[in-house]
Amino acid sequence: MTARAHCSRCDALCCRLTVVIFPEDNVPAHLTDTTDQGVTVMARDADGWCVALNGARMNCGIYETRPSICRKFAMAGPYCLDVRAEADKAARALQALPIRVVA
Ligand code: SF4
Ligand code: SF4
Repeated sequence: MTARAHCSRCDALCCRLTVVIFPEDNVPAHLTDTTDQGVTVMARDADGWCVALNGARMNCGIYETRPSICRKFAMAGPYCLDVRAEADKAARALQALPIRVVA
């Protein structure tokens, strides 16, 4: 299934990863965060997605100026396939949970 990975059939899973900002990136400061280790990263919302994600369209809201690490993330590339496989595994594990009826 992951071999046919395509962004049009994906919930922007890669936009839930930690995105490190490099000095050459030109990302507005209000979209960034600083980790406890002092690394500048894209900020994430309460659900874990990058705050630059356009949630209605599930695409990047700053596509033209997205960070260099995002530009290098290839659709159907090894990291893409990894993150999709992890998400599939997590979804299958959830489906396998027994249903508990609370009286
Ligand atoms: S690059 Fe891969 S993980 Fe990211 S949105 Fe596209 S298909 Fe999903
Ligand atoms: S900057 Fe854009 S492409 Fe990069 S993680 Fe955020 S929403 Fe995704």
